[in-house]
Amino acid sequence: MDKIDLNLIRETFKNTIKEMKQIVDNVDFFDQYITTLIIHSIDNNKITLLAKNDFSQQIINNNYLSKIEEMFNKNIPLINFEFFVTTKEKIPQKKEFTKNNIMAMAEGVNKNYTFTNFIVGEFNRKAVLSSKSITSNNFINPLFICASVGLGKTHLLHAIGNEYNKKFPFKLIKYISADDFAREIYIALCDQNKMAIETIKTKYEKYDLLLIDDIQILLNKNKIREILFNIFNNNVANGKYVVWTSDTDPDNLDGFEQRIKSRFHSGIFATIKKPDKAMLKNIANKKIKNLNADIVLSEDALNYIVNRNNGDIRRLEGQINQVFFFASSNSLKNPIIDLQTIKMIFEPSNKNEIKKYGLDFDPNIVIEQVALNYGVNANMLKSKSRIGKLINPRNIAMYILRKKCDMTYAHIGQLFSGRHHSTIITAINNVEKLLNKNIDLKNIIEKIYYKI
Ligand code: ADP
Ligand code: MG
Repeated sequence: MDKIDLNLIRETFKNTIKEMKQIVDNVDFFDQYITTLIIHSIDNNKITLLAKNDFSQQIINNNYLSKIEEMFNKNIPLINFEFFVTTKEKIPQKKEFTKNNIMAMAEGVNKNYTFTNFIVGEFNRKAVLSSKSITSNNFINPLFICASVGLGKTHLLHAIGNEYNKKFPFKLIKYISADDFAREIYIALCDQNKMAIETIKTKYEKYDLLLIDDIQILLNKNKIREILFNIFNNNVANGKYVVWTSDTDPDNLDGFEQRIKSRFHSGIFATIKKPDKAMLKNIANKKIKNLNADIVLSEDALNYIVNRNNGDIRRLEGQINQVFFFASSNSLKNPIIDLQTIKMIFEPSNKNEIKKYGLDFDPNIVIEQVALNYGVNANMLKSKSRIGKLINPRNIAMYILRKKCDMTYAHIGQLFSGRHHSTIITAINNVEKLLNKNIDLKNIIEKIYYKI
């Protein structure tokens, strides 16, 4: 081993990952899970890689690891390396509890989301107070937080995890999105090993605090929901804490069984309302102050932003970032952003396009967001090019424009270099077929649409 230079190994690994792009046909999977693989350890001729999560570990193990090994060994002299893949969670923890190890007791918890940087107002007071009670004797188990998107549910879950971890460093905590949980169960259900589900149940039943985000996505996943509620019931019965979030009031989740709905109301049920304009201004001012930049927004510029926001804090953050991006890339002489400047930033540059298609938004934004998500060029998506990696994202852009934005087939055809409307219909049908097979695609489309 000492004959081989570590830098050479790292460099060869980097190049191998680049080469893998040619053989991984799911661009999204490649970007999210293959490019994020890192070398965890090198022991003689054994190289262990760290995957992002169980889901990617399984797929990489079954489909790509031998290819990585083959490509890597082709490019490195003398030694034949053997590859393994694991996840951070599966690496045995050291016995002594250093600061980092303590944080490892809070799996999946993002330490940047805390109560300190969470702004409280009338709109979210009950949810915040209930969340903060996690470390007190008054906590009523379970806590259910319900609010529409962008109102701080995920932030609060992480803040609860961090606060609990600070007070009880040896308690086991887990944050997981219901989506990732569903994926983990789905893989176990496909596993030949009958014990796979039991192993997962045992794993989840050990957590003293389980934070489960966005359970509304389990609407059409009856089997997975059943398993989760089994774990939930056992944990609560054993005095372990559970906090849930949903962007829909569970009473309106028609696919959820009545007994499950009533369990959501068995502890504390807290909602976050949309902040009003005054509160949004307050939040915007605090967020701007926290950025520590030398620019100020005039009162009417701030009003302009707030009036274009329907009470979504995530969107508000996006708007503020857009202003700061503009200010830093244009090196403004005047530190005050006034109404005229703000209009320049937010008013669509492509008014002709908007008028041409009779829409109230620029359809190019959809194409740009899809292109960004799939790592391809937006103009190439609109072009006649038939390169393989463009086909799927192009179909998805057409699907969003038709199904979500109500653009006509003919107008979509015009936008995509004059394609015939029958081509657009076929493309959209293809996406619909994929949606039936691929559980992730719906989420990908929702995420892209949300950014628009
Ligand atoms: P949700 O999960 O409800 O969709 P998030 O928790 O992801 O929303 O919040 C969206 C963004 O807005 C995050 O960056 C979060 O930090 C921020 N945010 C939401 N509510 C607040 C708040 N009350 N104070 C500060 N930041 C907030
Ligand atoms: Mg969230």
